[in-house]
Amino acid sequence: MNESMDFGELEKFFVDDIGLYRTANTIQLLLLRQTHDYTIFRTEETRELNVVTLPSSSTDPSPMIRVAMLASKQKAVESRHFLTLVRTAAGEENLDEEQKKCALKDALCQKCPRCVLFGAVSTERGRGRERWNIKHRVEYSTAYSLEPYDEISELMTFNAVYTVSQSTGQALGYTENISPLANFPTVITLNSVTKEEFVAFLKCVLSCKSYGAETRVKGDVVNHLLGVVGGYEEIITPLEFCLEATNEGFLENPVDRTFEIMKKFSEYAMFQDNVVIMRGDEITEKIKEIPLDRTLALSMYEKAKRFSDKLVEYDKRSQR
Ligand SMILES: [Zn+2]
Repeated sequence: MNESMDFGELEKFFVDDIGLYRTANTIQLLLLRQTHDYTIFRTEETRELNVVTLPSSSTDPSPMIRVAMLASKQKAVESRHFLTLVRTAAGEENLDEEQKKCALKDALCQKCPRCVLFGAVSTERGRGRERWNIKHRVEYSTAYSLEPYDEISELMTFNAVYTVSQSTGQALGYTENISPLANFPTVITLNSVTKEEFVAFLKCVLSCKSYGAETRVKGDVVNHLLGVVGGYEEIITPLEFCLEATNEGFLENPVDRTFEIMKKFSEYAMFQDNVVIMRGDEITEKIKEIPLDRTLALSMYEKAKRFSDKLVEYDKRSQR
């Protein structure tokens, strides 16, 4: 990693190596996910959006129905993208057979940068590794829309088209879509991450674009980093952030407003001497400048392998 690439006070929340035990080092990323196309976020079983009734804002307790973007959906898309990025940057020829074949969600190798950051539950039996799982160090939460459900949801019907005549038949059904430019503030929490992981993860999130349930046709989402806060604890929850963000004027100046929100919540922190807040636009500029090159990616693979070896060793010792 480029030695001159310094994240200032945030540096103290990075770990040098991935350890067997978590530390208190917590970095929260405050993001705004914005739809840029008609998007379907729904559970597999129904064709309806997930909605939830919440207060209108942190200052207005009246109920408001919001659309929910489930944590599992965000994580699934971003962990796939993360794997693609680090594997491409490392070069497949430089990886071992298991790392090469690592795939979601039933063939996780348990020793690559994706597996050690996002976690890996072993599904394979009888290879001496079935007893342990790798716990994730990145936590997602459900993101709630800033706008009320009725303002951003649209029913779209789809029709049967007869191929011979190209005439359109009667409507067959409908899907419920989120309209473009709907906003979903959210927080992702990283625990005990290395600087490389922080950089690669942000490059992943900020370059990830396709989220819909029917990804071939729908689902452009653009992510903006609004703020970063480091601490010995989680400083703000996604719901708190969402309710603060619904107050007037947020979208006109989201980075400045997020900075004020982080400042407010850092005053509630239990470890006052250990809170660092940073502007999202400044971090984004730095992250853009750091290349995700072969050296960086291979260093991540090496640390992941080392961690995996340590786990195997620990497992053997604990059986004695
Ligand atoms: Zn893997």
